[in-house]
Amino acid sequence: MPGHVSPRDLDAVLISHAHLDHVGAAPLLTISSTPKIYATESTITQAEILLKDMLKLSGYYLPFAAAEVTKFVRTAQRIRYGERFRIKDAEIEFVDAGHIPGSAQIIVNADKTLIYTGDFTPIKTRLLNGSKDPGSGFDVVVTESTYALEAHEPRKVLEDKVVELARETVNQGGILVVPSFAVARSQEVACILHAHGFKAPVWIDGMARQLLEVYLQDEEYVDGIDLLAKASRRIRIVRGKRDRVGILDEPGVVVSPAGMLKGGPAAYYASKVADDPASSILLVSFQAPNTPGARLLSEGKLTLDGSEFKAAAKVVQYKLSAHAGQTELREYISKRGDSGVAITIHGDPAACDAFASWIKENTGYRAINPAGSEPIVV
Ligand SMILES: [Zn+2]
Ligand SMILES: [Zn+2]
Repeated sequence: MPGHVSPRDLDAVLISHAHLDHVGAAPLLTISSTPKIYATESTITQAEILLKDMLKLSGYYLPFAAAEVTKFVRTAQRIRYGERFRIKDAEIEFVDAGHIPGSAQIIVNADKTLIYTGDFTPIKTRLLNGSKDPGSGFDVVVTESTYALEAHEPRKVLEDKVVELARETVNQGGILVVPSFAVARSQEVACILHAHGFKAPVWIDGMARQLLEVYLQDEEYVDGIDLLAKASRRIRIVRGKRDRVGILDEPGVVVSPAGMLKGGPAAYYASKVADDPASSILLVSFQAPNTPGARLLSEGKLTLDGSEFKAAAKVVQYKLSAHAGQTELREYISKRGDSGVAITIHGDPAACDAFASWIKENTGYRAINPAGSEPIVV
């Protein structure tokens, strides 16, 4: 929570995208004042769903309530990609970041120029075309560093692996459970299977259902909307408890949050198929240390209601990342310019540090891996 900044001291708040690590504290800023908040329409729509879900799950612990979420949604100003607007003497522009629908890199043009990458990826997926080139010559580049230490496998290879696992599992009479983030990843998995002509039932559960509805209406920000619309005609939506039990009787695929198996219907499905050697569990994203997903991956053990048991189902991880990998991060920064300051954020300390070192050695940028909240003067 941005406790060190008073909302009254802010001229504006620019929100890059709807993930909770970027928007989760925004309603807090509306408690005692009405700051100018800017984001894309798609970001605000998805953020409203995620914030309300967060309130439902942990509202008691949060320093704001539903009223603040409503105020945030009502007062936030909707910005389109490429639209330029002014805040005092600065001109602002949002550029497609290719990360999730509505995600933006943000350019601030004042006496100096700055670009904040937000979370981004130039890699084209079934849902999004990848980030747009924001131009070059910035005095400051604030860049994410999530995968500074890890290169991604080509998307095509990953897609083939996903489809092969789905076919193999269904052919042997099993169920493929794909614990997946509700935002974009779940819908992408459904699109991948459809694009490869996968014919067995594909079920979607949890909050991924609500976001699917949102994306099907979001022509402006979902590049792959035609494929999504086609896939959605075949997608089966889990409507309630009876579906949830019934779908386990027939070979097929279930895509559902939570992506790291921390609750959600995915935890239920994983526990149901875990002792079936014909079934598989496919983790499609990063698994944070100490999550049930990480433990399942490293030890093959699933924890359910406090008891632990060894999974007989096949467990694999194919990371369908929505972030730039090491190669894309290096390419991105190399194209931005040859002088100025690069600030590496949004990654493990080791990743931010390694990326800063690489930038120093390979570009003309002065690179900073900021340690705390001290101001950086450029
Ligand atoms: Zn994100
Ligand atoms: Zn993030």
